[in-house]
Amino acid sequence: MSANHLLSHAIDLDNQDVLKAYRNLFVIKDPSLIYLDGNSLGRLPVKTIAHMNTTIQEQWGERLIRSWNEGWYQQSMRLGKKIAQIIGAHPEEVIVSDSTSVNLYKIAYGALKMMEGRSEIVSDDMNFPSDLYVLQGLIKQFGNRHTLRLHKSADGISADMTELVRIIKRKTALVSLSHVAFKSSYMYDMERVTELAHMQGALILWDLSHSVGAVPISLRKANADLAVGSTYKYLNGGPGSPAFLFVRKDLQEKMENPIQGWFGEKSPFEFNLHYRQSGGIRKFLTGTPPVVSISGLEPSLDMVLDAGIGAIREKSMAQSDYLITLADEWLFKQGFRLGSPEFSEKRGSHISIKHAEAYRICRALIDPEVGERVVIPDFREPNNIRLGITPLYTTFQEIYLAMEKLRLIMEEKIYERYPRTRDKVT
Ligand SMILES: *Cc1c(COP(=O)(O)O)cnc(C)c1O
Repeated sequence: MSANHLLSHAIDLDNQDVLKAYRNLFVIKDPSLIYLDGNSLGRLPVKTIAHMNTTIQEQWGERLIRSWNEGWYQQSMRLGKKIAQIIGAHPEEVIVSDSTSVNLYKIAYGALKMMEGRSEIVSDDMNFPSDLYVLQGLIKQFGNRHTLRLHKSADGISADMTELVRIIKRKTALVSLSHVAFKSSYMYDMERVTELAHMQGALILWDLSHSVGAVPISLRKANADLAVGSTYKYLNGGPGSPAFLFVRKDLQEKMENPIQGWFGEKSPFEFNLHYRQSGGIRKFLTGTPPVVSISGLEPSLDMVLDAGIGAIREKSMAQSDYLITLADEWLFKQGFRLGSPEFSEKRGSHISIKHAEAYRICRALIDPEVGERVVIPDFREPNNIRLGITPLYTTFQEIYLAMEKLRLIMEEKIYERYPRTRDKVT
């Protein structure tokens, strides 16, 4: 297909886009900057600025400590209810608190404690390293009584269900997986894997960090036990915005929070000297929540709910397919290969492309001196370029222009001008 034809196709798709108005609801100071890293840090919604300003100036500045009774105390639960709608959970099953890693620690601990007697934890080698670190740390804490069994992906892109069937056994206490893999974007069949775990009597914990806000999720329909997820990626909560955790209702009474603090106590303001765990999901809180950070999440959650996850997913699939069409035309003959599943039903909302010179190619993409536009992707060791698509603000034309810049960098070997030494944050 000719470049002109591919571009006019993008223009048509942007014109027909039912979500196109949402782009205007984000701060986009430089429209020529193509941001394909919303899967690491989502853009800033315009409304978030005023919303956080209210939290600071009025609630903190004027109402001072009275604000605790005027909304702050309920904030973790109130926003948890909104997230519950996005992940197909009941409102009293989700809470906003801490980081994803800390939440994973808390509920994986609770799961291992509940499943005492079982000696294995199953995960995979595509999982986010922090998740594996947490599990490794827990094993030490439980006195090295568990083994971490990693399903090894044959191609680094997809999981193999028959292999998973083989390693999930009666000994398995917990299966802990990322719903969408952070590098390859591979998406597990949540219902199927949950059922596999349950058939062996194991608990399952889904990390939704790379799927929440990007793909439809129904924890209830899948009958999932536990979940955690990040809010600063597709949920645009801002740098370091607190994560969420989900514990299915019937497990809440049985599970313990290993970090007992006053916010998870039955009645914190009685200042009882002995901890009595609170009922319900609130027991998974520990200390005072980061009120200002959490407030930054709300306008974006409202926007995702308003747009509807179905429409977001549909656009995301069309955009990722379009991106792959361009890669097919221009990049795969230049030493690139696809690092994500070929079919959109099997992946989340980012695409990985692999090249031996991926790092230097990323440097050239970001460089304003190359081509007409700055393109921000992200690089993941050793050879992945991740191109994140956030349907609420990414346009088809941006995808075209980003891929055109990649083509230029490859055809003219522009990446050779850059050093191979890595920056601290890549
Ligand atoms: C982004 C991400 C995290 C982030 O963890 P934090 O503790 O919030 O830094 C964890 N797990 C996965 C799968 C992620 O993608």
